[in-house]
Amino acid sequence: MTAGRLFVISAPSGTGKTTILKKVIARFSGLVFSVSHTTRTPRPGERDGREYHFVSRTDFETMLEGNQFLEWAPVHDNYYGTSRQAVAEQLQRGLDVILDIDVQGAAIIRKSSVLEATHIFISPPGLVELEHRLRGRGTESEESIQLRLKNARIEMQAADDYEYLIVNDVLDEAVDLLSAIILAERARAHRLPDGSPIQLIGI
Ligand code: ADP
Ligand code: 5GP
Repeated sequence: MTAGRLFVISAPSGTGKTTILKKVIARFSGLVFSVSHTTRTPRPGERDGREYHFVSRTDFETMLEGNQFLEWAPVHDNYYGTSRQAVAEQLQRGLDVILDIDVQGAAIIRKSSVLEATHIFISPPGLVELEHRLRGRGTESEESIQLRLKNARIEMQAADDYEYLIVNDVLDEAVDLLSAIILAERARAHRLPDGSPIQLIGI
């Protein structure tokens, strides 16, 4: 069995990334979502261990000191990080892993000499629509909405650093596009369709 592939996906908050990822993950076998650690409080409907591992700032800092994060970043006034051990175990089991991380975390993964990943940026169709979606979700305070909109302008400038760009205008089209990218990456020539490496015998 070969190690799984890593997909790094970033988008300004409110773009629809979580909505898209849930639909895409339901379509594929062997594709899992990496559950990050965060110091932010859960939104209604979020469950510890499913969307995130919700931890205190002290616990996060203890993990940080123990070098337990593959990458981490302060985002919108909270800390977010990816467990090194959890991702390593999933990849070793041959699973393809999606990291839903911000542009700072994506830059850390891009610079890593040991990790190979496909980087995908999801953009909203525009900032007016982004504000509409953030308000429509009904999970953020006015202050949090303003912070997320301010950060969105900065995050959009990093879109060029990604290999793929998906504009989430029509949801089903965005889901199809992300699915197509995953299929194409899985079909790369150095692998057989089941993910195992091609061995050229006798040439
Ligand atoms: P993110 O994970 O990027 O912060 P969410 O997935 O929570 O964003 O989506 C934010 C809001 O936008 C949700 O209310 C969701 O239903 C809505 N939404 C997602 N995609 C679309 C789309 N293509 N068109 C309209 N609304 C969308
Ligand atoms: P939210 O609080 O809306 O779920 O996420 C806010 C931002 O944090 C999003 O851009 C999301 O991609 C990012 N994020 C979530 N988990 C991680 C992580 O483990 N590392 C980093 N760097 N960013 C993360």
